[in-house]
Amino acid sequence: MPDANPDTDADADPGSLRTPIVAVLGHVDHGKTSLLDKIRGSAVSEGEAGAITQHIGATAVPLDTVSSMAGDLVMADDFDLPGLLFIDTPGHHSFSTLRARGGALADIAVLVVDVNDGFQPQTEEALDILQRTGTPFVVAANKIDTTPGWNPQPDAPVQETYDSQSDRARQMLDENLYEIIGQLSDAGFSADLYWRVQNFQGNIGVVPVSAMTGEGIPDLLAVLMGLSQRYMKTEMEIDLGGPGKGTVLEVKDEKGFGATLDVVLYDGTVTEGDRIVVGGVEGPIVTEVRALLRPRALSEIRTEAEFERLDSVQAASGVKLAAPDLDDAMAGAPVRVVRGRHLEDVIGEVEAELSEIEVDTQEQGVVVKADTLGSLEAMANALREAEIPILRAEVGDVAPRDVAVASTATEAENRVILGFNVDVLSDAERELDRQDVRLFNHDVIYQLVEDYEEFVEERQREQQ
Ligand code: GDP
Repeated sequence: MPDANPDTDADADPGSLRTPIVAVLGHVDHGKTSLLDKIRGSAVSEGEAGAITQHIGATAVPLDTVSSMAGDLVMADDFDLPGLLFIDTPGHHSFSTLRARGGALADIAVLVVDVNDGFQPQTEEALDILQRTGTPFVVAANKIDTTPGWNPQPDAPVQETYDSQSDRARQMLDENLYEIIGQLSDAGFSADLYWRVQNFQGNIGVVPVSAMTGEGIPDLLAVLMGLSQRYMKTEMEIDLGGPGKGTVLEVKDEKGFGATLDVVLYDGTVTEGDRIVVGGVEGPIVTEVRALLRPRALSEIRTEAEFERLDSVQAASGVKLAAPDLDDAMAGAPVRVVRGRHLEDVIGEVEAELSEIEVDTQEQGVVVKADTLGSLEAMANALREAEIPILRAEVGDVAPRDVAVASTATEAENRVILGFNVDVLSDAERELDRQDVRLFNHDVIYQLVEDYEEFVEERQREQQ
């Protein structure tokens, strides 16, 4: 691998673009995890030190590594991007959690669709979210190696091999791919096989891939780079040296540090000692960064909680941030560095971002608990679509107080708590029985809605 080209090095050239943040979405079992693993694995097997960097919650693949993985398809000289930052947790739950400024934190998304299975409920959900947040994306039509008669070409670009397949395999794959393109078009997207898409803005490229053999991944990387470059140039206003802006991925207790924040930084810089404002359950929290932590390099033997300390971190990065008073911080909430600005202004911005998530509540309805601000928003949207009224909606585990609130309902269908990805405190568990309140807890929204609707139907049948 050549030395970092000064023209593409974010630290050396203040005018250069920041690393785009890439999220992977799609229906369960369509291959999101495998695709991420394959990309990370292929990058590492490029064999050079620094082929990838593990961040908190994300993996950075530098431009040189992308370029050597994609061969002729990505010429490093053509790009001002430092590389790609892949969010490690696939799925639209993490995508919704990672919200920023009312939109998505991820700049670009990969929608994975199993080429044999086509569109499924979570594919539709993911498309909805991508459309709502205006996130540019590419479709990875995955598992092309499973087409009967298909002859896998490990780690090869797909365009050449696609043309050389036997007619039968070619025809089957064509049919499946065109079905996906048709379904995208039904959902209101203009889409085509990526090599026929001239301008990816508003036009969705479909890239046939195999997360198993690696075939097509060079093409996928090339499309991602092209899409990112255009998007980062035209849509992003970034000040890499300015005060950092980020989103809380998770609030975690860490030995020796107490409550810490796993943060994805999407703009600016955070430095040890910086004063920050973080969104908390009771409103903005003002505190000061004690330490910035990142997992130790992969080559070193490490346990989960072994970190190296950094003095300063620049966007885009995933970093663990240790600071006092973080117990009430919320996953999905904004983090802002105050540096050079009035504290009141920054608090105002955090308050404004927190109040963006408005849930329309009614006098009668169910109680909703979700693990992050973003998932609370997604839940509220899904329930509105299903015409299920909400009495109260909050971020956090199910507590006795929630059971007490739900128990005030007179209708059985409202004596309900819908939990998305939350824990139930043991006192609350007891109260659920005592107060005859039903809890539905799931980590898939449409499943949660379905379970609840089934319960309501059953109740109605019983009453007839
Ligand atoms: P996720 O739920 O979307 O993260 O899906 P996974 O990555 O866990 O994949 C689900 C299953 O599909 C696993 O058994 C994978 O081994 C398999 N799988 C994923 N990608 C491919 C592929 O490209 N080809 C084949 N044959 N199997 C795949």
